Amino acid sequence: MTFKALLATKAGDKLSTDLVDFADADLMAGDVTIAVEYSTVNYKDGMALTGKAPIIQQFPMIPGVDLAGTVEASSYPGVAVGDKVVVNSWGLSQTHHGGYAQKARVNGDWIVKLPEEFSTRDAMAIGTAGYTAMLCVLALEHGRITPGCGDILVTGANGGVGSVAIALLSNLGYRVVASTGRLDEADYLRELGAAEIIDRKTLSEPGKPIASERWAGAVDSVGSYTLANVLAQTKYRGVVTACGLAQGIDLPATVLPFILRNVTLAGIDSVNAPQEARLEAWSRLARDLDLNKLARTTTVVGLAEVPEIAVRIIQGQVQGRTVVDVNA
Ligand code: NDP
Repeated sequence: MTFKALLATKAGDKLSTDLVDFADADLMAGDVTIAVEYSTVNYKDGMALTGKAPIIQQFPMIPGVDLAGTVEASSYPGVAVGDKVVVNSWGLSQTHHGGYAQKARVNGDWIVKLPEEFSTRDAMAIGTAGYTAMLCVLALEHGRITPGCGDILVTGANGGVGSVAIALLSNLGYRVVASTGRLDEADYLRELGAAEIIDRKTLSEPGKPIASERWAGAVDSVGSYTLANVLAQTKYRGVVTACGLAQGIDLPATVLPFILRNVTLAGIDSVNAPQEARLEAWSRLARDLDLNKLARTTTVVGLAEVPEIAVRIIQGQVQGRTVVDVNA
């Protein structure tokens, strides 16, 4: 039995990807086999496929940090044949074959059963980027940031995390300010729920260690000077969630926002988030995400187009979320 897969291999320093017929018997060990319907392209997939960061830790590897599909075989308690399931990260595309294939075999404890509100395609329109946006919103709530506290800044607004964060926050009644390098996409951002749009250049250069109080909270997928400036502009007892590195991994900030304004910098990791946090995020996505807005963020491609999208997402040229139909 074979199925279509995108396989990453490495010869010396050169990483390549090819569409291949992959044998069922060559899948890695796991107690659940899934007929994959959709995957997606996140920034992390872009880093994996272009080799920008050493995401893939062994070769050959089927990349793809996300997958959604229907259970074909299971020896894992509570997961049955026919269940619609989603897997986000864990070892996928690092040490375990991922979502860019028509079939996957994974550990049962990586699986989240899809809330009935979502199709497998919706699940991948959300993907790790959208589930991370939800983790950020939950962290703001945990820090007691309510819509009455003031504006919430979303950086990397046209990206996957940014787009879903805007949709979620605006639905929850927050006033959202979107920071972007693509000001010509203002209509898209407004349709998602942004009340105001600012040029990311106002945040991306070195700034003051502390500045006028502007944000009650923030969802930052950019890092570097942007995150430092966001911290400096955050209001007393505000919460800034840091989940990304699109500008850089550095954080050239001072302690002033923390010790003068009681600002909280909340780190967000989706990869090793415990199952309890994932279940909470997915059930809140089912409650708080407007599927019409999600559809506006989504483009669908086939497996063969993934390598090109991977290059474009690293260049900051992809808007919203890209769903991969592995059977197209
Ligand atoms: P996208 O590429 O979809 O979004 C990133 C956005 O950041 C771009 O669309 C662009 O938005 C902005 N951007 C790009 N380059 C720069 C730059 N040099 N300076 C400032 N802004 C820039 O990626 P994702 O949404 O999938 O992921 C966003 C980030 O979050 C990534 O760094 C990713 O690794 C991280 N991430 C982390 C997770 C975690 O578990 N912590 C999980 C998921 C993602 P615009 O054009 O609007 O300016």
